[in-house]
Amino acid sequence: MVMSVVSPRKSLTEVLQRVGGYSSSSSSSSSSSSSYGSHSQLKRFGNESEDDYDEDGTMELVQIGAERTKNVLILMSDTGGGHRASAEAIRAAFQIEFGDEYRIIVKDVWKEYTGWPLNDMERSYKFMVKHVQLWKVAFHSTSPRWIHSFYLAAIAAYYAKEVEAGLMEYKPDIIISVHPLMQHIPLWVLKWQGLQKKVVFVTVITDLNTCHRTWFHPGVNRCYCPSQEVAKRALVDGLDESQIRVFGLPIRPSFARAVIAKDQLREELEMDPDLPAVLLMGGGEGMGPVRKTARALGESLFDKQTEKPIGQLIIICGRNKNLVSTLESDEWKIPVKIRGFETQMEKWMGACDCIITKAGPGTIAEALIRGLPIILNDYIPGQEKGNVPYVVDNGAGVFTRSPKETARIVAEWFSTKKDELKIMSENALKLAQPEAVFDIVKDIHELASQRGPLANIPYILTSSFTSII
Ligand code: UDP
Repeated sequence: MVMSVVSPRKSLTEVLQRVGGYSSSSSSSSSSSSSYGSHSQLKRFGNESEDDYDEDGTMELVQIGAERTKNVLILMSDTGGGHRASAEAIRAAFQIEFGDEYRIIVKDVWKEYTGWPLNDMERSYKFMVKHVQLWKVAFHSTSPRWIHSFYLAAIAAYYAKEVEAGLMEYKPDIIISVHPLMQHIPLWVLKWQGLQKKVVFVTVITDLNTCHRTWFHPGVNRCYCPSQEVAKRALVDGLDESQIRVFGLPIRPSFARAVIAKDQLREELEMDPDLPAVLLMGGGEGMGPVRKTARALGESLFDKQTEKPIGQLIIICGRNKNLVSTLESDEWKIPVKIRGFETQMEKWMGACDCIITKAGPGTIAEALIRGLPIILNDYIPGQEKGNVPYVVDNGAGVFTRSPKETARIVAEWFSTKKDELKIMSENALKLAQPEAVFDIVKDIHELASQRGPLANIPYILTSSFTSII
């Protein structure tokens, strides 16, 4: 989170006054009469898409009183790989459960519609987590509510129009935020438009244990917490029990459904069919001590006496292209596969026997579903710190920052301590929550059903709002 000060183009008060002024003078009847007017009348609102009209220029009336596909806008950002993975998981679960009833749009509205610093979050985040002390300071100093609320209010005042345009383009009936910085501003925009009661807004928290306080906003319809620990934090931060549901972290349905046997996966992925396999990764960005650990495993998984490997290594580098080329230039005595960003993580995890990773919540939750014992070798201060005791105290893995120690543990798991590996695998499965994503979308569906037919006309006021700001 970058704490630089921006000079507002419009003050928040000014924006609110203008919105207030408009709201009182614009009745819903004037809006609805516009919605049946001529094409040109409608066009002046500047928000209707060509898709809304028949060939003869009249607006489709099928929406009135009839069931139509509901738009679900999922707000995310590629700060790390976890937010996108959760968004994709929710999209897939909606499609499996409800088919065409919902149209799912996954967007980084900040990146597409606003300017600095919102449109640059990926780069700022990458820079800060590389310089962990910087991230630590940013995470903890923005924790007090008055600080982050002030900061987000300033940005909201500056980018009100852009954020609004971003949200309106997709005319969402439901907004799902899977990012800690995407509650406040969209909720303000909905409030300004008087749409709070029409559009369902939910937060799906993608941190497992410790998390930033910007995740918690009392204005949401639901806050889905992945663990009781996060739910407790939500209560402390002012959310009501009725707003909170604890189902687990949403993981792509491909992890839970249509599971393919390990042998088959190994054949498909061209891995050695017999050697035990360890998966080494560092989140979506390929962070943490991946190279050093890979080198140490290259030694520990090679039996010097028999001159044969006792295991094989899969390294998934995510978006870290430098890491791929560096590892490819190394020489290996054991079978090694080096991969960039993989879209079928469930297959690689399903083909392996244990995993080494930084304490990313997404990777941990996926590994638990696959029953993989976990060696955590790093964590991002703040949001990932609590994931270490979550795994270790539940007997699903160990924590060590030492690449040599990591390599020694894996070599033991693959030789003299196979029983330990098995017990940890069982513990991992006990912690897994593969159905979480389905529970979440079913609950959202229920919330949306409670809104009734009014939810069919949410963005008439909105377009008029755009034209006056
Ligand atoms: N991931 C992926 N392909 C890759 C590397 C990572 O799909 O090549 C996914 C991984 O399966 C997980 C997410 O990216 O779902 C990483 O999330 P996590 O919370 O572990 O860490 P982050 O990258 O957000 O720090």
